[in-house]
Amino acid sequence: MPIVFELRKNGVCPRIICDICKEPIEDGEGNVYYDKILRSDKYELSKKGDTANLIFTHKKVSCVQKVDREYVSCEELDVFFYLLIHNTKVNLKEGQRRFAILSRI
Ligand SMILES: [Zn+2]
Repeated sequence: MPIVFELRKNGVCPRIICDICKEPIEDGEGNVYYDKILRSDKYELSKKGDTANLIFTHKKVSCVQKVDREYVSCEELDVFFYLLIHNTKVNLKEGQRRFAILSRI
């Protein structure tokens, strides 16, 4: 389970855990690997609703070298979250405002 809630000194917070080394990705230096998306320059997802599995990894060579060959496509964590925020229509300013209120409780 790569996304977890972890108890830290100021409470619990979401973290992304590398699926390879099981350590948190803390510095934005992460990748997301997908299976079934692009293989030999052809999309394997062919109809609406088709899904691909994904894993999170650090960018360091020791983690990347151990990614299973079935995960054929990759993008940087920055791009993945940009797309996720876009597709879920998450309002970051509203999230920031609510977090500021909750953190005072
Ligand atoms: Zn790692």
